[in-house]
Amino acid sequence: MASLKIENASWIITVDPKRRILRNASILIEDREIKQVDKTEKLKNQKADKTIDGTHRIVTPGFFNNHMHISYAHAVRGIFPDDLPHQTYLSYVFKLQSAMTPEEEYYTSLLATTELLKNGCTTIVDPGTIKDLDSGIKAIEQSGIRAIIGKEATDMVNPLNIHVADTKQAKQEIEEVIRRYDKKLNGRLRAWAMPFHPNYCSDELLSAAKEIADKHGVGVTTHIAGNEEQTKSFTAQRGNKPITHLSEKGILGPNVLLAHALAVSDEEIDILAKTDTKIVHCPPAAVRGSGATKLGKFPEMVAKGVCVSLGNDAANSAYYLDLIRTMYLAAVLYKDARQDRRLIPPETALEMGTINGAKALGLDGITGSIEPGKKADLVLFNTRRPEWRSLFNPVNSLIYAADGRSVDTVLVDGKIAVESQRATYVSEDELYDKVQQIGEDLLRRTGVSFKYPWPVE
Ligand SMILES: [Zn+2]
Repeated sequence: MASLKIENASWIITVDPKRRILRNASILIEDREIKQVDKTEKLKNQKADKTIDGTHRIVTPGFFNNHMHISYAHAVRGIFPDDLPHQTYLSYVFKLQSAMTPEEEYYTSLLATTELLKNGCTTIVDPGTIKDLDSGIKAIEQSGIRAIIGKEATDMVNPLNIHVADTKQAKQEIEEVIRRYDKKLNGRLRAWAMPFHPNYCSDELLSAAKEIADKHGVGVTTHIAGNEEQTKSFTAQRGNKPITHLSEKGILGPNVLLAHALAVSDEEIDILAKTDTKIVHCPPAAVRGSGATKLGKFPEMVAKGVCVSLGNDAANSAYYLDLIRTMYLAAVLYKDARQDRRLIPPETALEMGTINGAKALGLDGITGSIEPGKKADLVLFNTRRPEWRSLFNPVNSLIYAADGRSVDTVLVDGKIAVESQRATYVSEDELYDKVQQIGEDLLRRTGVSFKYPWPVE
């Protein structure tokens, strides 16, 4: 049995049930699990096959990015001008993605997972847009990240270039993906039902997705109420607001994770709390014109006990994938919008990115905090950097001062994925060059191009 010890970390932010922060402490890992977490002195006689020096390091649980399309956007990150209407942007997204080959999806997914891991993210939900699942999963397997995947399902005509399946076929596909992939990769891979968006899914399909998920003991995730327009058009179409409608149809519950949830009413927050439906807030995507601070009621959701986790969204919606920056946004946006500095304290933001992330995925029994018996999904930050000094309150410093640049070492399932700031499973420079080439080829093949304000000579 392989063992690993993180020796004498300066600080360990456990996010355990008591929210203990340990100074000068060590972590003993055996096989894939955390065996002991205690003061350095108490574990000094415990030997391991490999030791990581924790001096000047802060250890946190691995972060959760619960809404992160990994498979296409890295090839063409940054091509879209800001003034492109949102629907037009989305139609380009699906046009470009549908033109990708499985090999291209593998490399772009590998780059996405590499960027995520290097910023301390150890678990992701890809909300169903990997076109060739085997290629995406190959990247997940190689990088070692923990992932929930699925296949987007849509059975209504949509303006987004998403393939419209007939309802029966869409239901079969949802079940097939769960049967084929759930609990693979040593249990690190989970497969969920992923109806793309209630605006483009029939009630029959949405209900079936929930029933199939319940039957297989997995979850459901869907985009919802991402801006005012989406909620208005849903209400015009079905006669009720989306979350109210899903509730009336029996489609909500503890295994349902709703992404975005910006244009939501107060009554709908009560419904979320009552049904224990989970939320993933994507601040970096929301602040790009969707109305995060005007519409978002995340402090109210937190106050009412709704489990709010965090996500970024695709690299062309969020641009960056660093969940520490996302926790920062969650902590500051609503303070400013409401002029109330008490809203979403840094401790709450850190919970959203760790233990709430795990709860939202039904994984809090195995990950999301640093406790004996949990999987070793851990991040070591190097605090010998300017942004970490001076250091007195590590939670304040992590959320407000630091970001992913100081992530030094990352473990997932007890395995080292990032060491001394480099990915252990891939030649990073070759990967960067490869994805640049894929992006150039993809734009040439599809004829997609945009004019930018400043001349390039
Ligand atoms: Zn999305």
